[in-house]
Amino acid sequence: MTVVDVASVRAALELVRERILRAGGGDDVTILPVTKGFGPEVIEAAVGAGCTAIGENYAQELIAKRDVLERCNGSIEVHFIGQLQTNKVRQLADLVDVYETVDRMRIADEIAKRAPGARVLIQVDTAGESGKGGCSIEGLDELAEHVVSIGLDLEGLMTVGPTSGGPESARSGFRAVREAVDRLGLSSCSMGMSGDLEVAVQEGSTQIRVGTALFGSRSVPAWRDQER
Ligand SMILES: *Cc1c(COP(=O)(O)O)cnc(C)c1O
Repeated sequence: MTVVDVASVRAALELVRERILRAGGGDDVTILPVTKGFGPEVIEAAVGAGCTAIGENYAQELIAKRDVLERCNGSIEVHFIGQLQTNKVRQLADLVDVYETVDRMRIADEIAKRAPGARVLIQVDTAGESGKGGCSIEGLDELAEHVVSIGLDLEGLMTVGPTSGGPESARSGFRAVREAVDRLGLSSCSMGMSGDLEVAVQEGSTQIRVGTALFGSRSVPAWRDQER
């Protein structure tokens, strides 16, 4: 595995910025560095390179990184981007700043109970692949209404493109999510990863979530839910 340090993260961030520009995006597209599957030193390298937020997928892994997050002394915003389980929310409440994967009423209720007023995104399922979570686009309005009614701060929507079919296969889903963001009057649209960020930017993403393109390949494969 290649060494991840401040210089390598800086260089990789620059390459990702260039990809965003070439896809027609600008500085209004933020990059969320995804540090799942890497040790705490990768968070430190990202912070050293100027990153102010990270994304993590797994509750246990995030809890194991508590020390480094505390060392960063609140200067880093933690986005939870993995599937949320109701029985884990209590442990996550003091570590997570933004929950990006709210996809059902029960999980929204649990977040409202453990972290009142928390910043959340609703995850919409556009890939139709099992195991990724997300509410249906048909169920979105009802869930959005509920999330707001229980006092959560609904900032936007999040989606994950399909794993198979290449980046182009994500386009129609990304477009539908951006339309829903506008229709609901929300501000953030979290879509696009290392493999499909260009399509996401073209379709109006405001935040791409990038792991591999910044830090190389990781030992924990995406979407293997190690907590089940
Ligand atoms: C792992 C993951 C990412 C980052 O994926 P890369 O392909 O490594 O950029 C983004 N979003 C979610 C939800 C993920 O699980």
